[in-house]
Order: sequence, then C-alpha cells, then structure tokens
Amino acid sequence: MKRIAVLTSGGDAPGMNAAIRAVTRTAIDAGIDVFGVHQGYQGLIDGDMAFLTRRDVGGIMQSGGTVLGSARCPAFETVAGREVAIRNMAEREIEALVVIGGNGSQTGSHALSQMGFPVVGVASTIDNDLEGSDVTIGVDSAINVALEAIDRLKVTAESHRRAFLVEVMGRHCGYVALMAGIAGGAEVVVIPEQEVSPENVAQQLRAAYDRGKQHAMVVVAEGAKNNAERLVEHFQTDPEATGFRLRVTILGHVQRGANPTAADRLLGTRLGEGAVRALQAGQTGVLAGLRGNRVLTTPLEEIVGRQKPIDLELFELANIMAR
Ligand code: ADP
Repeated sequence: MKRIAVLTSGGDAPGMNAAIRAVTRTAIDAGIDVFGVHQGYQGLIDGDMAFLTRRDVGGIMQSGGTVLGSARCPAFETVAGREVAIRNMAEREIEALVVIGGNGSQTGSHALSQMGFPVVGVASTIDNDLEGSDVTIGVDSAINVALEAIDRLKVTAESHRRAFLVEVMGRHCGYVALMAGIAGGAEVVVIPEQEVSPENVAQQLRAAYDRGKQHAMVVVAEGAKNNAERLVEHFQTDPEATGFRLRVTILGHVQRGANPTAADRLLGTRLGEGAVRALQAGQTGVLAGLRGNRVLTTPLEEIVGRQKPIDLELFELANIMAR
C-alpha cells in the first residue's frame, strides 16, 4: 500500500483532529502517502483533496472541530455518487480510505467497501451511540462541557433556591445527559431510552425540595420526548408542583466546539493509528474502536443500522445517588 486518503464526516467531534494527525503520521512513518479530503464525502465527489505532510497536521490536536472540514453529503448515498468518489480516488492512485465519523458516516463507509473499495472507519461521535467502540471520539469532551455548565449553574441555583433544567446534546441517545448527570450530581436525568413523565419529574423535584435541598438540577437529553421546553411548559401549568423556581439552559452547539480533553486526544491518536495498522494488515470494511481498553476492529456490517444501547444500570445509579 503506497497511498491512502483520510476524511472526517457528519457531525464534528472534539478529538477528530488528533485522529487526522495520527492517521497521517502513522502512515507517513510506514512510507505511505496521505491525502486529506476536504468536507467529508463531498470532497471525494468534488475531487477536493490534497497531500498532507507531518507538519500540516502539527498544532491541530488541541483544537475542537476538524481541520479537514466536514459535511453532510446526500449524493454519497447514491451508487452514482460513490462511483464518482471511487473514480476520483483511482485517478490519484489512492488505494484505501479512512473515514472518521459516526453512525451515518460509517453507513457510507460500509456502502463504499461493499463496492470493493478498501475502507476502515474510526469511531467518532459525541453521542457515543456507535457499536464497536466502548467510547467514541468526542463524547468525553462533550460530557465535560455539560459538567462545567452544571457545576456553575449549581452555584447560582444554590443562592436562589432554584432548580435548573439543563438540556444537553443527544438526538437519539441519552449517554451525555446520563454521564453528565451522574458526574454533576443531578436530582433527575431525563433521557430518550427511559422516558419519565413531567409529573414524575415534578414529584422528584418536590421530594428534593421537601428534603430541604437548596437547589436542584435536572439534566435532559435534547432527544427526550419531554425535552426541557416541554417540561417547562408543563411546570408552568402548576408552578407550585416542584417547590423550586425553575430556569432553563439549553447548551446546544457549545458542546461540539470544546477543546478536546486528554481522553479524546488519546482516543483519537490510538484509533487513528489503529485504522492505519488495520489497512496495513489487509483489513477492510471494519471500524477501529476501543473495546476493553484495546484498539480492536469490528466488521462494519455488524455496526450499521444499529444504535449502541445505554447501560440502564447507570440510570438506576443516577437515581440512587439523587435520593
Ligand atoms: P454522522 O456520521 O455524524 O452520524 P450523518 O448521519 O449526517 O452523520 O452522515 C454523514 C454522511 O454519511 C451523510 O451526509 C452521507 O454522505 C453519508 N451517509 C449516511 N448514510 C449513508 C448511506 N446509507 N449510504 C451512503 N452514505 C451515507
């Protein structure tokens, strides 16, 4: 193998840059040229890619986002679009591709490998909903941003006997909400995997109030049926139900832009290296992920179309800690 390409696709995640850097430097160290593809699959279709040197990937690891850019590319979901991508890589004598991204992106990499082009994926999404990796690049940084916000809101909540509803990212998956809720000592965690009614949330808050709590924290995943907006709407109908005065904070995209934590830089570096090693070993159609603190590959066909379930024992732990 003489030449590979690397791209980042879908939602950006802190730690992607560490993975780009690791892919590039591991490959160059092994005598393999690396093309960096801009704007995800769109760059493959447009032929928008350029050689990367060791120096090109210097000084990028500490930044969030991705220096290669990322995009959503509907054209890649068609066979015709993927054929153009393969032709553009063949013209440049690119023999294999590393795709750093989440569920959608790895569905794309699987489709490409099904057409005979060698691909290895790198598990990267702040939702941590990808099978094949215990944790994914970006989730630790997202949790830490949420946690910092929770810690700060607690200080002000305490001074005013307030309850804060903090809505964190997670369209389909409550992992960030649950972990930030446990680490932040939340009174209530609301996630899509374990829906609770607004009445139930109100009861838990009321119980905390009656126990004499000076403040309360509800951490809500954006994808929960009863997201922060719906909960507040409900509480407005009965302001006395919770005891506390309520305030809402929706964190939104600030969680994406975080500087990657040490854990995400290390994970990005390890998985980036792992992807190149897998290609060197002749593997294709696999995802490089972390399982039991080892970098291992899993066939993409076992991953696509699935969502890694959340460990509901952790949800119970959150509840026990809140009592
Ligand atoms: P993420 O990787 O963060 O889950 P998306 O779901 O937006 O992001 O997917 C990113 C890109 O992956 C899409 O814009 C598309 O180019 C590609 N993709 C997603 N699903 C498929 C599919 N079924 N076949 C081919 N490509 C796909």
